[in-house]
Amino acid sequence: MRSISCPVTPVPSGLMVSPSEVLTRPAEPFDPVLQHQEGTRKRLRVMARVCTERNGYAIAAPQIGWPVRVFLLRLAVAPVPVIFLRGVDLIRWRDEWYAVVLGPTFALLEAKYHEARRVLGLDPDKRVVAKEACLSVPGAVVEVPRASVVVVDFIGIGQDGKVRMLRRVAESMLARIIQHEMDHLDGRLITHYQGKEGSSSGS
Ligand SMILES: [Zn+2]
Repeated sequence: MRSISCPVTPVPSGLMVSPSEVLTRPAEPFDPVLQHQEGTRKRLRVMARVCTERNGYAIAAPQIGWPVRVFLLRLAVAPVPVIFLRGVDLIRWRDEWYAVVLGPTFALLEAKYHEARRVLGLDPDKRVVAKEACLSVPGAVVEVPRASVVVVDFIGIGQDGKVRMLRRVAESMLARIIQHEMDHLDGRLITHYQGKEGSSSGS
């Protein structure tokens, strides 16, 4: 369904709320050709606007009906370390900046273990249960188990305009936010976890 992500199609303008088909199917891979197209920047700005208006930490493209693997981190509230942002594309809405995470995938298992231990000395197997809410699922608060550290690979566009593959390690709250957004890109909402995990999943 290439035409869905094609910049000549109308730019979505608002938040998609569950139930919605676009929220529950896997998003398409991010096509690098889209990077410099104005339709893409417009969509990113719509995402930023919606996230600011709804006071979210982050927002994934399917949440505005754009079924592509992209999410934004709202730097005013999401705990994103400066080192994470090196080489990462940024976009602004009003006076707020967002990190643009293009085409993210979790690092392969072996790389994940290596990077998590090397960079932060953390155990990638440790899981933490905490309550999460979602802009697209108004009113729902669900306890969701998440890895305490993740390693994510994505496309970055630096200040020099050069495109690079980036690998970033994230822990605690940022790791949780990233896993929530990656779930959106896989068509999974927090309601997926409802009633699935009790205290048995550990802390
Ligand atoms: Zn969400």
